[in-house]
Amino acid sequence: MKDEQRRHLEQRLLQERARTTRALERLDEAATSSTVEDGDLTSYPLHLADQGTDVQEQEKSLMLLGKEGARLTGIDGALRRLYKQPERYGICDECEREIPFERLDVVPWVTSCLSCQQAQEHER
Ligand SMILES: [Zn+2]
Repeated sequence: MKDEQRRHLEQRLLQERARTTRALERLDEAATSSTVEDGDLTSYPLHLADQGTDVQEQEKSLMLLGKEGARLTGIDGALRRLYKQPERYGICDECEREIPFERLDVVPWVTSCLSCQQAQEHER
């Protein structure tokens, strides 16, 4: 991989990291704050109806939290590798071949090439 490409992917990773961190903060708020705010018992019947959607919203937020959290872990791992073992970055964990730049540009934190990933998915 060329230095120029590596720098480009570093920027992509940092961008994605910032975006994911922001999304996590927002989701964290959505997942924890909704129940605390609806403490008004005078609107009890309405409150019950509200609660239903809140719980759904909360579950959705929690699911997304997990997804974004996993993404952040992947991004951090890729950045660590990029800084500590730049020669290992962009190399498939499975077959040790270079992952095509086009694939890294789309998902800069992938750790395996397309055919290895497909083989893994096939196993499951
Ligand atoms: Zn591979």
